[in-house]
Amino acid sequence: MPALNGLMMETPLLVISLLEYAARYHGDTEIVSRTIEGPIHRYDYARCLKRTAQLAHALRSLGIGQGDRVATVAWNGYRHMELYYAAPGIGAVCHTINPRLHPDQIDYIVNHAEDRLLFVDLTFVPLIERVAQRLKSVEHFVVMTDAAHMPKTVLPNALCFEDLVAGRPETYEWPELDERAAALLCYTSGTTGNPKGVLYSHRSMMIYAMNICLGKSFGYGPTDVVLPVVPMFHVNAWGIPFGAPLGGSKLVYPGAKLDAENLFELLDNEKVTVTAGVPTVWAALIDYMRRTNRRLNSIRMLAIGGAAASRAMVDTFEREFGIHVVHGWGMTETSASATDTRLAPQEAALPYDDRLLFKTKQGRGRCFVDIKVIGEDGTELPRDGKSAGELCVRGPWIARGYYNDEAATRAAVDAEGWLHTGDVATIDARGYIQIVDRKKDMIKSGGEWISSIDLENAACGFPGVAEAAVIARPDPRWGERPLLVVRPAQGAKIPPKEILKYLADRVARYAVPDEVVFLDEIPHTATGKIAKRVLRQQLIADKKGAA
Ligand code: AMP
Repeated sequence: MPALNGLMMETPLLVISLLEYAARYHGDTEIVSRTIEGPIHRYDYARCLKRTAQLAHALRSLGIGQGDRVATVAWNGYRHMELYYAAPGIGAVCHTINPRLHPDQIDYIVNHAEDRLLFVDLTFVPLIERVAQRLKSVEHFVVMTDAAHMPKTVLPNALCFEDLVAGRPETYEWPELDERAAALLCYTSGTTGNPKGVLYSHRSMMIYAMNICLGKSFGYGPTDVVLPVVPMFHVNAWGIPFGAPLGGSKLVYPGAKLDAENLFELLDNEKVTVTAGVPTVWAALIDYMRRTNRRLNSIRMLAIGGAAASRAMVDTFEREFGIHVVHGWGMTETSASATDTRLAPQEAALPYDDRLLFKTKQGRGRCFVDIKVIGEDGTELPRDGKSAGELCVRGPWIARGYYNDEAATRAAVDAEGWLHTGDVATIDARGYIQIVDRKKDMIKSGGEWISSIDLENAACGFPGVAEAAVIARPDPRWGERPLLVVRPAQGAKIPPKEILKYLADRVARYAVPDEVVFLDEIPHTATGKIAKRVLRQQLIADKKGAA
């Protein structure tokens, strides 16, 4: 018997429809941005759609058409949001570039993506000027400002954003595209080899946006005020510029000022209800709130992702500040989070300490995402909360390959369509995954695996520890031994013996580091994670400062 097709309309899922929806039904809901020029900018979804239409006309006037890549090097702000919609709206691709990368990598990425236009925030004009001559495919550089703030620049064919959009029609006949068409592009900053391009489709982004709007996820609604601290150049600000309009929520963009004081002001003044960012940002906010004795009262959910949330951090937010934390796991390749991070009723009903245990896990798979862990031989490991293996995922918002990079695709995606994440995890019987390490970050000591994440989380609980990292150090006897690196909080004195004793009470004996190194600054990658490779280079060659 042939399959019987349903008789429902096959309206393509296109991202522009999110902004059209928000403009029609939540037209006067605000989008607030801290601008690079200085003042706070406010407008609403109705105005945002009009300007997006103007920008779409401008892109067309520069010859941009379907499939063309339009790059951005920009902070979180309203002009960046307009690009998020205008480029995909006309069938082009919005390619967000991480400005914290080394200029050589930016050069590689732009050339690999063959970007035709590059939109740049004022802050990053000098950075792009340095590499502009090497960006062969770029026809125009557009500075994201108005005529009054337009800098003198050596960028070839430089244009001013506001001049470019001014006077153009405020409506656009958005084409009916194939929902599988590419909409956004983001390169992973990849710790090994060249950066790899993850090419999101309209369909993948729409399904993702709907998923994060579920009540059991972030549940964005019209009474929410959402502030993504996570940058728009890092995995599309975890989809918030798409999820918030779908929820009819007010949006707040922090611009370039991501220090704790400025962030606190914005969170407080705009009465933010949901915010999201990496642990480093939240550690600074905690420190600021403690020092100033200030509190945030409006937040109903604070999302931590991109790196593991330590027990100490979750505990501080929940117990000391009364802020509900949601912890999630994901990658550039998984459009942000692949795990559903809210506790199920069984876990939510547990005593506080046990609940905290589940909150520091990375959550359960979201609907539509298959998750498993595999052993060295590729077979699936039991979901027993103990068997650790490589985490593999597949689903409608997971990358099935890298843009124009067959070798990288072959290395990451297997014949059954599973993406091998390089993360090592366990899954318990209830489906909670726990990342125990990245494959290359595991420390093997005397034949036993040691999780650097467990050690870091534990060390973060010791008074006066602002940040902790654990790296593997070659050892003639054990093969490898963990080395603990600590950045003490301002003015804190940490006796090495005390912290090692503290750890001895919390981790297996063989896992207790032999040594602690104190640093004033721990290096971070462009996306805010601890740069272990840099740390290894720094400390394994030069052991100065070891206690
Ligand atoms: P990126 O593609 O730069 O977002 O990096 C993704 C990687 O960050 C993952 O493969 C993990 O190694 C790490 N990561 C993301 N979220 C978490 C988390 N909640 N806990 C531990 N590691 C995480």
